[in-house]
Amino acid sequence: MSNIADAAGVTFEATAPVLIIGAGAAGLCAALAAREAGAEPVVIERDARPRGSPALSAGLLPAAATRFQRERGIADDPDLFARDIQNKAADEADPALVATVAREAGPTVEWLADRYGLPFSVVHDFDYPGHGARRMHGLPSRSGAELIDRLRAVAESAGIAILTGATATTLYVDADAAVRGIAVERQNGSLERIGCGALILACNGYGGNRDLVARHIPEMRDAIYFGHPGNRGDALLWGERLGADTRFLSGYQGHGSVAHPHGVLITWAAMMEGGFQVDAAGRRFSDESRGYSEQAAIVLTQAGGVAFDIFDERIAAIARQFEDFRQAEAVAAVISADSVEELAERMKLPGAALAATYAEVAQFKSGASSDPFGRAFAGAPPLAPPFKAVRVTGALFHTQGGLAVDERARVLRRGGAPLPNLFAAGGAAAGVSGSTAAGYLSGNGLLTAVVLGRIAGSEATRRGSR
Ligand SMILES: Cc1cc2nc3c(=O)[nH]c(=O)nc-3n(C[C@H](O)[C@H](O)[C@H](O)COP(=O)(O)OP(=O)(O)OC[C@H]3O[C@@H](n4cnc5c(N)ncnc54)[C@H](O)[C@@H]3O)c2cc1C
Repeated sequence: MSNIADAAGVTFEATAPVLIIGAGAAGLCAALAAREAGAEPVVIERDARPRGSPALSAGLLPAAATRFQRERGIADDPDLFARDIQNKAADEADPALVATVAREAGPTVEWLADRYGLPFSVVHDFDYPGHGARRMHGLPSRSGAELIDRLRAVAESAGIAILTGATATTLYVDADAAVRGIAVERQNGSLERIGCGALILACNGYGGNRDLVARHIPEMRDAIYFGHPGNRGDALLWGERLGADTRFLSGYQGHGSVAHPHGVLITWAAMMEGGFQVDAAGRRFSDESRGYSEQAAIVLTQAGGVAFDIFDERIAAIARQFEDFRQAEAVAAVISADSVEELAERMKLPGAALAATYAEVAQFKSGASSDPFGRAFAGAPPLAPPFKAVRVTGALFHTQGGLAVDERARVLRRGGAPLPNLFAAGGAAAGVSGSTAAGYLSGNGLLTAVVLGRIAGSEATRRGSR
């Protein structure tokens, strides 16, 4: 696994101008762009049915200045979006890469909608932490399963070859560090060698590799991994062996609101719309509005590694646009009660403490006092019966560090020069979130998958067709 071998003397059974490892969000967008640019790309996918991390996600893609926003009267522009990314990432992200993804996200969402018929709309009824405008775009079910299934369907209709049940194991590299081809292991154990003009690594990060997580993200070494188990860090390991530069390996997207033990994501809208989190003693412990990613580690440090989301029916009605939330209700992860006292009893929380916290939050919302954790509650409607609660834990969703790339998605060597024909997008590449979980702005994952994937597809076609 993740081997590098000398290409000298190797014969390839077939050759593709552009070879793409991974049929997730980045790989499929890269394949569509390569096809449009005139190449016949081949996509290699480990799973029998490609679904990747997107199938586990809400499939929400941030983009600025789209027609979907204009239709809703939402003013936005790529510069504001870029500033929001850098503000969340404490200015650690590569400014050129940030400017590129912020500029190209809008046209990319419209490309997927107009050219491939993906029916995007903008989430217009609540704010995501750190975004200065409502710019999260999703498909009707608000699920990433729909996104990945639709991407695969349009890729297949475009005649793109997707080899499934095929794991890339080895890169064959020549003396100039150009990748000449790869070895692929099929599910029956047979090996094939496929040559390439250019290679795109779209096989995500290392969330599914416990050793790499323990080495680079020790705070999450024992956390539940909520991403795709097939993301084992192959891109990082190959790149490192090829002399590629890496960045932000401690960066990741966590989530502080995964129903426990049900293992279903509870949208952060439950917090942003006026809900709050308490610990097992019924007390708040943080400013929930800072972001769900950094909240994962904070929740894990509470007693038992759990917290309790407290909200109400009005907020649940907003959250129900998400398939995950509907699922959480279906499996009875969301508890309902007509009074705070009954809610406390049903959640086995100390009633007096929860009632005091509830009353305190109502004061913050009315403006009578301010939150010692610094959250701006003023203006949010008070919670009203029926009340809702979910027992949650913190989880690792996906890693945000990876191979250093430039704005053309070319993988860079240590020292800065690009490798001759190697490209990376999505979780395989270093993202725009910097080195901490707090640097993750909602949607940064799909942003660099879809936008950089598209760029990688056209750039690799230019390189691979030479
Ligand atoms: C629960 C959850 C919720 C999320 N919510 C959001 C959200 O709402 N918005 C957002 O922007 N991001 C979200 N993300 C992150 C987002 O899903 C990822 O950032 C994005 O899918 C990364 O895309 P990718 O193409 O790099 O990887 P993926 O889409 O995961 O695809 C990688 C593919 O590569 C394959 N693969 C790996 N190694 C090999 C190999 N050696 N050979 C062949 N194939 C291989 C895998 O099987 C997989 O299919 C979420 C993630 C999770 C887990």
